[in-house]
Amino acid sequence: MAKILAITNQKGGVGKTTTGVNLAASLAAARQRVLLVDLDPQGNATTGVGTLKLKALPTVYQVLLGNASCVQARLATPFGFDLIPANRELAGAEVELVDIERRETRLKEALTGVESEYDFILIDCPPALNLLTVNGLTAAQAVMIPMQCEYYALEGLSDLVQTIKKVRAHLNPDLQIEGLLRTMYDPRNTLAQQVSAQLVAHFGERVYRTVIPRNVRLAEAPSHGMPALRFDKASKGAQAYLALAGEMLNRGVQ
Ligand code: ATP
Ligand code: MG
Repeated sequence: MAKILAITNQKGGVGKTTTGVNLAASLAAARQRVLLVDLDPQGNATTGVGTLKLKALPTVYQVLLGNASCVQARLATPFGFDLIPANRELAGAEVELVDIERRETRLKEALTGVESEYDFILIDCPPALNLLTVNGLTAAQAVMIPMQCEYYALEGLSDLVQTIKKVRAHLNPDLQIEGLLRTMYDPRNTLAQQVSAQLVAHFGERVYRTVIPRNVRLAEAPSHGMPALRFDKASKGAQAYLALAGEMLNRGVQ
């Protein structure tokens, strides 16, 4: 059975999508079968792997509304993993789902059809604690939280932990916090060092040892429609995500 991870943080621009795309590519390079689900109307994971936002294709929007299966919506990327794409249409899903039964469990139910075909399913959540994110958290076994080591990061974390507790209480009692990932890390920045130390003090083993450095190749790769691993394998960013995949596999995450 697949390990299903929701990559989430309601704070914008912390590296969720970069982590989704590059971790998917790195796990695939380690011969893992991976499905990346783009659950964000911004569709950044979708464009980040070069997938055109074609109107005719079913996306995660149709999947959530029950108008397409995951099998119908998934696409094989040239990078060894599959993708269920998203586009702006998904922004309407929140309103349309309100009147639908079991609106929080739509993604979970849809994924049961393909779960056995993958080792990992990574869900790239939007920067909000909304119904889309709740669908992601309900479908997942565990949460991966990318975060930048800056002052407000810790405040945002307590809101996220509250949401995770609510989802546990009402929808998904077994939801774990898989790990906190330090992203865009600059070791010369004293505040980053302090926040990083606080994180480790508070969350201990749940902070990944692997740290993702700030690396321009990670920021450039999406405009070429590819993960950094393909764009520049030797780059520090690509190597960091390979190390993260290795750490996850060594943890016996499967
Ligand atoms: P959103 O909340 O809008 O979905 P996000 O959390 O998915 O954002 P990303 O889109 O992954 O964040 O990253 C935000 C920006 O920072 C992007 O331009 C991305 O290319 C860049 N970026 C992400 N990680 C790194 C890194 N380690 N080094 C340099 N740039 C990075
Ligand atoms: Mg994103």
